[in-house]
Amino acid sequence: MAKVMIIGAGGVATVAAHKMGQNPEVFTSIMIASRTKAKCDRLAAAVAAATGHKDIQTARVDADNVPELVGLLNDYRPDIVVNLALPYQDLTIMEACLQTGCNYLDTANYEPKDEAHFEYSWQWAYRERFEKAGLTAILGCGFDPGVTSIYTAYAAKHHFKEIQYLDIVDCNAGDHHKAFATNFNPEINIREITQKGLYWEDGKWVETEPLEIHKDLTYPEIGPRDSYLLHHEEIESLVINYPTIKRARFWMTFGQQYLKHLEVIQNIGMSRIDEIEYEAPLADGTGTAKVKIVPLQFLKAVLPNPQDLGENYEGQTSIGCRIRGIGNDGKEHTYYVYNNCSHRAAYEETGMQGVSYTTGVPAMIGAMMFLTGKWVMPGVHNVEEFDPDPFMEQLNAKGLPWHELHDIDLEL
Ligand code: NDP
Repeated sequence: MAKVMIIGAGGVATVAAHKMGQNPEVFTSIMIASRTKAKCDRLAAAVAAATGHKDIQTARVDADNVPELVGLLNDYRPDIVVNLALPYQDLTIMEACLQTGCNYLDTANYEPKDEAHFEYSWQWAYRERFEKAGLTAILGCGFDPGVTSIYTAYAAKHHFKEIQYLDIVDCNAGDHHKAFATNFNPEINIREITQKGLYWEDGKWVETEPLEIHKDLTYPEIGPRDSYLLHHEEIESLVINYPTIKRARFWMTFGQQYLKHLEVIQNIGMSRIDEIEYEAPLADGTGTAKVKIVPLQFLKAVLPNPQDLGENYEGQTSIGCRIRGIGNDGKEHTYYVYNNCSHRAAYEETGMQGVSYTTGVPAMIGAMMFLTGKWVMPGVHNVEEFDPDPFMEQLNAKGLPWHELHDIDLEL
């Protein structure tokens, strides 16, 4: 008997809810709670129809509001809360979990709304309180962060005495046939990509201009794609948990069409995250009034909804880790571990495209790891701190099979 509460009802939550519905022996009771209850109701009905799960409840909650969250958690009493809302809500949900004795899992680290900046320090500050309360908080359990960190833990456990060079490579070779769209929440996505790049080398962080460093990398079953160095959150914890790492970087592919649109969006000020005044017409038609809007939030309202991209999405994603270091035999080795995920197959199974799928499946597996007693460790932990083996086994069983290549040219 285990109860799980999903917070959020977007693309990633849709996939996680479907996958939980397919595994009722672990997830006996599911609650989907989000800001718009109608979305939760639609999702619950779709999961019940697709999987036959008998116990899916829904609720409305503002996850920015701790007392509201506490009320809902006290009513439903979940064993674990799976936070699939936005990174802005991480701290309020963690606080509510502490006040009600619930365990916690998320897929993205905290970001303040008014500053496009993410780092783990805000969430790591909760370590002692979770530890004292005997509660487990699992941070960053999507694909990247998430599976990429678990791949690294698996490489360290089975193949390397010393990981020295780590390159996380994320390719989306899909085509959604739209001029411009983001694959997950546009506001979070554009904030991430327009930041300065950052990587770890020889014990310190090296900053680059946004998208300054790029090179062609060859992805399995896809071929060469221009890949850009970005700052990505999992690097922050991996270089602490694997101190032998001399250099750690994160690469993501972007097409020229995407970059052209992004440049225009920035040049015309639509990626701004500060409030501006806008002269809006009054509803009764009697004139106008000044209202405050955030340009990037306005842009989100006019861009395609990532949840609607699935139907015509072709191609696949390919995400993995390219690692060089000293193997268990004392010699230098290279290793590439990756998954390719088809957008069409993801859509046929869950109604969502591959980017939501590759995030929602690991979130479900992480919750499963906790509920089956394999990942129980009071405190606040990044996923690489847990045993990777049972998680890797479930990736193969639950739709994200992985492949290994040994001693190849890593191109990096
Ligand atoms: P969506 O925008 O599709 O969904 C977000 C959901 O959260 C919506 O249902 C939204 O409600 C809800 N929400 C937002 N604010 C609140 C609030 N204050 N209270 C309650 N609910 C709220 O996003 P995605 O599904 O694409 O992404 C979900 C998370 O996954 C994000 O944190 C994202 O950063 C992360 N992610 C992680 C990846 C990884 O690999 N680790 C990759 C991709 C995404 P409403 O429907 O009313 O707007």
